[in-house]
Amino acid sequence: MQLETYMPAECTTSLLILQDRDMNLQRIERELVELPLERAATRKKIEDLEAQIEAGKQKVRGVEVHGKALETEMAEIEEQILKYRSQQLLVKKNEEYQALTHEIERGQGKVSDLEEKEIELLYELDDARKALVKETADVSERIEMENRALVRLDEKEVNLKGEIDGAKEALASVQAEMDKQSMSIYRRVSRGLKFPIIVAQKNGTCQACHMKVSAAVDVEVRKGIEITTCDSCGRILYWDA
Ligand SMILES: [Zn+2]
Repeated sequence: MQLETYMPAECTTSLLILQDRDMNLQRIERELVELPLERAATRKKIEDLEAQIEAGKQKVRGVEVHGKALETEMAEIEEQILKYRSQQLLVKKNEEYQALTHEIERGQGKVSDLEEKEIELLYELDDARKALVKETADVSERIEMENRALVRLDEKEVNLKGEIDGAKEALASVQAEMDKQSMSIYRRVSRGLKFPIIVAQKNGTCQACHMKVSAAVDVEVRKGIEITTCDSCGRILYWDA
């Protein structure tokens, strides 16, 4: 498709400079918009990692609480056994004495089961504590890494904010030098397209979409007199031998 503006070599150069500065400014703006998202994502990672350590601590606490409950239960049974023993001294009938002996044995059985459980629990507690120490070390290292990433994001923000004014001025200065028609074609063409907008045509092919251009477009691009766009993707083409 032919457009009515001249496309001499210097126009191509200006358009390429315009595109370059446009691209640079858009990159800075995009990165500034993305920064808070990146920061939030990094903070979320840190929170998750801290939660991981907290979960490890809770697990250890859980086992400790279980251990305390076992000890209390055992103490209560032991106390009960002592009561049965003193009752035995008072009873007269043999069957009452036997019944208390039976209760005492039952209590002793329970205590011995609880003792076994307690030993298992001590192993479990030892494992959980070791795992917590290791996990805390590993996860703390990862948290440290994410914190460094946050510092880098702060630095990036300072740099981008420092760059943006220069980038705006650079774009404005090339826009001021360009003729209005080329500018408006560039703006129109670039709407809805991703960079690059100004593309070389090589061997009859658009270097952005890689489609062959029509014979008419090929001729116009070679002539380099008017701004000509690709038949397929609509980008502005310039001749590259
Ligand atoms: Zn194309």
